[in-house]
Amino acid sequence: MLVQVAKGIHQLSIRFPFGMRQVNSYVIEGSKGVTIVDTGSCAEQSMDIWKSALPMGTKVEKVLLTHAHTDHIGLAKWLRERYDAPVLLSRLGYEEMQKFHTRLKEYKGDESVDYPYFLQHGGPAISEKALLEQVDADFFEPDELLEDEQEIVLGDFLFESIWTPGHSPDHFCFYDRSNGVLLAGDHVLNDISPLIPIWSEEEGNPLRSYFQSLDKIVRLPVQIALPGHGSMIQDLPARVAELRIGHEQRMQQILEGVAAGGSTAGEIAKVVYGLEKLSIRHMAEFLMTLSRILYLESEGRLRAEKVEGKVRFHVMG
Ligand SMILES: [Zn+2]
Repeated sequence: MLVQVAKGIHQLSIRFPFGMRQVNSYVIEGSKGVTIVDTGSCAEQSMDIWKSALPMGTKVEKVLLTHAHTDHIGLAKWLRERYDAPVLLSRLGYEEMQKFHTRLKEYKGDESVDYPYFLQHGGPAISEKALLEQVDADFFEPDELLEDEQEIVLGDFLFESIWTPGHSPDHFCFYDRSNGVLLAGDHVLNDISPLIPIWSEEEGNPLRSYFQSLDKIVRLPVQIALPGHGSMIQDLPARVAELRIGHEQRMQQILEGVAAGGSTAGEIAKVVYGLEKLSIRHMAEFLMTLSRILYLESEGRLRAEKVEGKVRFHVMG
């Protein structure tokens, strides 16, 4: 069911029986047809929601994606074919997809090899191949690539792209200056704190990028922010402030949770989240803790030391 959330913009809640279970897609009215923002995961349930919201023959001008995560791009190919509409993704998003696509093609190990980056940080054992296959499942060739600070017409409205890395390295928000509307993707959510994960060493310091990306959007005079999951955001600066405080509190808990002899990220995640055992179900807790630890390390609050293949962190001073 399409729900109007701003002038000419309708939200469509796409449900699917796995992962995040829900994504907000947006349908923006336009004289050349509607523009779709984000798609939901590739599932029968999601397709049925699109079918009843936009019957066959609906004019769709384009499909825009905020970032290349499965719950946002999973139906991009399907929507392109169903409505004969081009799919737009950032160049960075496409490069992310290509990176994993190549990595999977060239991967030599089998399902039994656990991902070494997680193991060295005391994280859950997860098959590296399965991980790559999961990411690559939605691979497709976009029709048009977007850059940062680019003007883009969505429906009858003029938006600009704002690169907001953190939740993912390729995350973009889209801002309509004249109406104060921000398509926020997963950069700022109202009901949960967006996951800021780190998947490999080369991703650097995602939490630092995230804080910088929050700075970018908090200065904008936003009337309403339309997030990729859950409820709409009326007061963006207040929500951003809450998110920052949440991270600060967790980082304080991390500093208090490090053992005297040093701890791995996995051990710290268990303490901070009160977990008996760190299993694959706690991937989000582990990834979030690791990002915060690397941020604290970059701030000179923690120091890393590699002992027998494991990275242990110590509190500084
Ligand atoms: Zn999402």
